[in-house]
Amino acid sequence: MQDSINNFFKPESVAVIGSSRIPGKVGHDIVSNLVRYEFPGRIYPINPKADEMLGLKVYPDILSVESDINLAVVVTPAKSVLSALDDCAKKGVKSAIIISAGFKEGGTDGAELEIELLKRAKELGMRIIGPNCLGVIDTYSNLNASFAADMPEKGNISFLSQSGALCTAMLDWALSEHVGFSKMVSLGNKCDIDETDILNAFAADEKTKVIIGYIEALSDGTRFMKAVKQISKTKPIIIAKSGSTSVGARAASSHTGSLAGSNMAYDVAFWQSGIIRANTMQELIDYALAFSYQPIPQNPGLLIVTNAGGPGILAADAAGLSGARLSDLDSQSKEELKSHLPPTASVENPIDILGDAKADRYDIVIEKAMKSDSVGGVLALLTPQSVTQVEETAKIVAAASKTSKKPVLASFMGKEGVASGLRILQKSNVPNYPYPERAVFAFQKMYHYKSWQASPYAPPETIEADDERVSSMVSIALEEGRNRLTHEEIYEVFSCYGIRSPKSIVARDGNGAVSCAEMIGFPVVLKVVSQQISHKSDVGGVRVGVRDSEGLRLAYQEMMDNCTAAVPDAFIEGVVVQEMIERGKELIVGGQRDPQFGPMIMFGLGGIYVESLQDVSFRVAPLNLTDTTLMLREIRSFPILAGMRGEEPCDLEAIQKVILAISQLMERHPEIEEIDINPLKALPFGKGALAVDGRVSIGELK
Ligand code: ADP
Ligand code: MG
Repeated sequence: MQDSINNFFKPESVAVIGSSRIPGKVGHDIVSNLVRYEFPGRIYPINPKADEMLGLKVYPDILSVESDINLAVVVTPAKSVLSALDDCAKKGVKSAIIISAGFKEGGTDGAELEIELLKRAKELGMRIIGPNCLGVIDTYSNLNASFAADMPEKGNISFLSQSGALCTAMLDWALSEHVGFSKMVSLGNKCDIDETDILNAFAADEKTKVIIGYIEALSDGTRFMKAVKQISKTKPIIIAKSGSTSVGARAASSHTGSLAGSNMAYDVAFWQSGIIRANTMQELIDYALAFSYQPIPQNPGLLIVTNAGGPGILAADAAGLSGARLSDLDSQSKEELKSHLPPTASVENPIDILGDAKADRYDIVIEKAMKSDSVGGVLALLTPQSVTQVEETAKIVAAASKTSKKPVLASFMGKEGVASGLRILQKSNVPNYPYPERAVFAFQKMYHYKSWQASPYAPPETIEADDERVSSMVSIALEEGRNRLTHEEIYEVFSCYGIRSPKSIVARDGNGAVSCAEMIGFPVVLKVVSQQISHKSDVGGVRVGVRDSEGLRLAYQEMMDNCTAAVPDAFIEGVVVQEMIERGKELIVGGQRDPQFGPMIMFGLGGIYVESLQDVSFRVAPLNLTDTTLMLREIRSFPILAGMRGEEPCDLEAIQKVILAISQLMERHPEIEEIDINPLKALPFGKGALAVDGRVSIGELK
């Protein structure tokens, strides 16, 4: 397995099936790229109609090649790809890059052919990149098994892309900016090898320091997250995910024929697994440069030095916007600095060394910043003014970057006027951003990554539970053809998972309800029980604060009348008589299944306003205590839970336990499609939390 993946990057020999002698044809350009970039292994062009190309012997078929072959690049028309694979297998080839188009992206026939292709590859024990891709580049093994127009310089970034065109664009940019890469992989339709396989390969590649990717949809979100959570602790992973908006998602699905998951789920899953998400290609490149060229900051404070006020303010605003922190120099350094700068200069961050600043002023500020413990990194802003020493300043910034362990970023603004400085910065691996905001955002991502790296791995929390009982209830309900659990079942499931609920008894008529209420003790709550009524209070199906039997009879009758009037064909089984929980904050805890990532857990301010307030936070299961602690704090209403204006705080620990329980319940019982507890009444500290209403939808496993 590892070998077959390795062969994509470090093969000893490559066969190109469907090679062509005509320049400009894909089958030609791949062979020519292998030759031109001096692939050191053996190259075997395969074409029954030729003898020789680019100085290489051409073979009529792969079986006529005498020696072993590690990697096949297939360029033949789609319909002959399967037989090409058969030949490869006979020759003992385990890895193939299928460049050919005409598969899933082309419609139903192509999609069927692609299914066949994967089936065949599995039978033959082969691994496939593609089909419909640009190919693979590994600069350190001089392998350019692609039809890209060029080869990037050697470097520490590796790129995986679901779009071949973006690979070529990235390449073009990389060449013009002299940005080095280790590997580039165009995933194509990813019928077999997907982003997770390639991420694992990049993780294992010692030349790769930074992983970047362009993704339209994931093949297996759960597997991806699991891998990413580990890899991202050692290597930053920056991903641009398109199909973020519903319009974008439609374009993406017609593009590679894959279904994009919902954007929110991606946001949450990426965040939880430590991915640095780029919202645009520009951000992808901006962040990639910072991570590739500079060390990770050890503390959050960025120090900005500028020869102009405006850009300094823009940078400071960007810090406020992104959550990047600016930190001042220590007071001694400030004093020393004052003696070197004109009196009107500012020694507060952003440090404004004024428009007449020459390189020496940058030098002294940067030197102080490097020595000051409070400073995590430096951003040098420069606008070309009449006395500005662009080159000298660039040299000073470059020298600081070389000698310091702190990241140094630059924003030399302008074009012609700063060009000579930019060349110096580029040669010294100081990323320059044409606008200061972009530099600040990049720094913020770097520090965020540092905190992610430092956060300890916490295993998922386990809740003691009676899973057998839950399973049996769910299967009975499914056998009875139901897609929802009954009131009693729901509370029993909750109790199997340690989720408490108020005393409640189902009564079939008014008299029954009175005796139930007497058993429970007044005041009580009445709730209609009917499979056809989902939102009970919407149809007058909930009465809280029923104080005595007389009131109860009245309320019961009114409830029946209201519900029958609102939902005439509802079959009303009776009412739930429930203990009245007078105190407590109303929260919501729920779970649903995301097609890409599996159980998605929600927490928020609940009750009847949940939809309008939308004050909720999400996580992908499984969860640990850190996750639930953060979920609680992410909602805007957290201060209400924590206790404000003399109010007692809620029992936060009990709320977290309920969230963990729902997470585990969804994980262990895949037949449960959706759950929600709304409201969960959170009582004051030490008193717990009670589920006063719940819904559980179930379905047969697909
Ligand atoms: P539904 O969501 O179907 O309308 P609920 O059972 O959630 O029905 O009841 C609606 C509202 O009534 C709840 O949001 C809550 O404010 C209140 N309520 C329901 N049950 C209780 C209870 N046992 N104690 C106190 N208030 C309750
Ligand atoms: Mg409710």
